[in-house]
Amino acid sequence: MRKFFFLMVFALSLTALQAQDDDFGRWFDGRTLRVDVHRSGNRKADTVSLVRFVEKSTDWAGSRSVLIDPFDNGDYRVSMIDIETGRTIYSRCYNTLFREYRDTDEGARRSATFEEVSLIPMPRAKALIVFEKRDNRQRFTPQASFRFDPRESEMQKVKSETDNSFIELLTNGLPKNKVDVVIVPEGYGPDDERRMRSDLTRFAEYLFKHEPFMSRKTDFNVYGALLLGDEPGVSNPALSLTVNSAVGSTYGVFGADRYLMTFNLFRLHDILDEIPYDYIVIMVGADKYGGGAIYNFYATVSTDPMAPSILTHELGHLIGGLADEYVDEDLSYNEMHVADVEPLEPNITTLVDFGAKWQAMLEPGVEVPTPDRTDIPRTKNGPLGCYEGAGYKSTGIYRPAMHCMMRDYAPFCPVCSKRLQDIFDIYTK
Ligand SMILES: [Zn+2]
Repeated sequence: MRKFFFLMVFALSLTALQAQDDDFGRWFDGRTLRVDVHRSGNRKADTVSLVRFVEKSTDWAGSRSVLIDPFDNGDYRVSMIDIETGRTIYSRCYNTLFREYRDTDEGARRSATFEEVSLIPMPRAKALIVFEKRDNRQRFTPQASFRFDPRESEMQKVKSETDNSFIELLTNGLPKNKVDVVIVPEGYGPDDERRMRSDLTRFAEYLFKHEPFMSRKTDFNVYGALLLGDEPGVSNPALSLTVNSAVGSTYGVFGADRYLMTFNLFRLHDILDEIPYDYIVIMVGADKYGGGAIYNFYATVSTDPMAPSILTHELGHLIGGLADEYVDEDLSYNEMHVADVEPLEPNITTLVDFGAKWQAMLEPGVEVPTPDRTDIPRTKNGPLGCYEGAGYKSTGIYRPAMHCMMRDYAPFCPVCSKRLQDIFDIYTK
């Protein structure tokens, strides 16, 4: 009986898998289409223009079972519509570096152009690729659409002289069934190969230092690009330092000393052409603390002594689309969360629509807002509640726990942990 039951479950799960793969196979041929665009504008308005279509050298590494974005997070969305049936066959939400520029003083006055790259499964038939952004009521509105015909549209290949060498740091299965992370070394000079390789190995271990990454390690593949710049270091305008580093990262982005990012998205994705990846982590070999991360875009972390915790925090932004749960009234972009709008991120609320957030996870009788507790050590979350002070603001925005990785490098709170695991599942189930 037991054996029969096992066989039945096995047969059922096989059918479920085939159904999903069939649906993917109906619309997509298994290759990866890369769409390079320019986003130009300022706080008032921005436009999207097509730069090129690229046929990426690796097969589709993303989800084959969840084709439409289920999370409704992020301020931008790229979708693919099958022209013959009018059906949306793929969508993903994300954030951009432009989104942060827009909210700076400079972004209010001056227009600028930013590079943006989307990876999309290659359609079998003619399709429209649609770029959308949120309006001030958080509804998506179309910005641009580009017609793509897999038989007729011109598709470039990344030039073969681009250095694409890489190593596998952790392999657990086919890229299509795993969360694939690529670590990109930055700031290493011609003489730094040994240091670069040992830092890559260390960083791959840091990825799994904290839950929920630790217990989901077998759901990941990790790759390391092998990259040395012409000279060591990265640019830093505060020191009038300009370095021709591998992917052109710089400290001091948008005037914030520790904000360390790159604007060269096309070059970055060119270098990674032969690596299958869902997420990019740029590892900057520098002692000076710096970093940043943008949802479904990329993350940057320096190899400073706090790197294991900082990397995990940044993965919360990059993969989970989680908000910061700490308070910092000085942050220039603290206009980001408006009091009468429910924020998009799953781990903060203005209580405008708490039901859409973690309200259902609270124990019965928990007071909302929940009074602060001073007896919870920073190694614990404390009881789940709705505590005031999050999203950079001390009032009007609430978080799920006294402590969390997104606040003070405590373990991820249950709300953040759940969102991360839900996202891992779309790649692996
Ligand atoms: Zn949290």
